[in-house]
Amino acid sequence: MKNNIPGFLPLAFILYVLTMFAHAQDTPAGQYYQNSWNNTNTHSGYLLTTGQYTLYLHPEGENAFVFPCVKPAKLISPYGPRGGRMHTGVDLKQNLGDSIVAAWDGCVRMAKESYYGYGKLVVIRHENGLETLYAHLSKVCVKENTYVKAGDLIGLAGRTGRATTEHLHFETRFLYEPFNPTIIINVETRMLISDTLHINNKKFKAGSMPATDTITMSKQNLCDLFEDFSVDTITPTADSSTSLPPQPAPPAKKTYHIVVKGDSLYKISKRYGISISKLCKINNMKETDILSLGRKIKLE
Ligand SMILES: [Zn+2]
Repeated sequence: MKNNIPGFLPLAFILYVLTMFAHAQDTPAGQYYQNSWNNTNTHSGYLLTTGQYTLYLHPEGENAFVFPCVKPAKLISPYGPRGGRMHTGVDLKQNLGDSIVAAWDGCVRMAKESYYGYGKLVVIRHENGLETLYAHLSKVCVKENTYVKAGDLIGLAGRTGRATTEHLHFETRFLYEPFNPTIIINVETRMLISDTLHINNKKFKAGSMPATDTITMSKQNLCDLFEDFSVDTITPTADSSTSLPPQPAPPAKKTYHIVVKGDSLYKISKRYGISISKLCKINNMKETDILSLGRKIKLE
């Protein structure tokens, strides 16, 4: 029997699976969207519930927010009811060909040459669960399922689709629900108004993060997350006649848990086998504290 199988191949495979496993669990965007990802629709289902969510807009480990228009951008039409229908974004005046950039780091979910009244369109999903939408472009400069950093060129301004002048139609959305971008972004100073977005019973409100509370995103390429869903189709690279079938990977060791809907200290304690009192001690909190969605609970 041959026993000189290159040992690193099965090991490399297990490490690969472990890495992907860790990605799948640790990203709020993956949890919020129930690991769903599509390149076809701006809106897919009604995921936003009446619960409470807290989203961090300036997480450590990620590039800071960048205003989507590089050139001056006068607000020519606000978010809200307009002509008997809802205008679900803000219109920012641009000239033909002005650069449009990604507002935050994220993964391009849609890059369309034509999408109904939006014309040429880009939609990016960000790791905190927000999505941003950029419409009426004259040119799309990114491909779907690719990672972009805040400030990366994603398209050029135009008036494709239903538009009467060159402008950027810009939307911010959470769980497919659009909200007024000016709740969190000042279009005059081109800066974020707050570091936190609170959503309570479908109402969006800017907030600030308690000084004692920090959240670090996983510094990962978010697009990797969505490749995870093909994880069970991966076959080991080692020659099957000389190697054992792949062993199920042990669960990745987690150092923190991000609070999702329905979580309680009791549930987290059971899930990770850590006592409630220890969790409280590590996280400097009380048993009676309310767990806000998106909060990072340290496990060690
Ligand atoms: Zn518009």
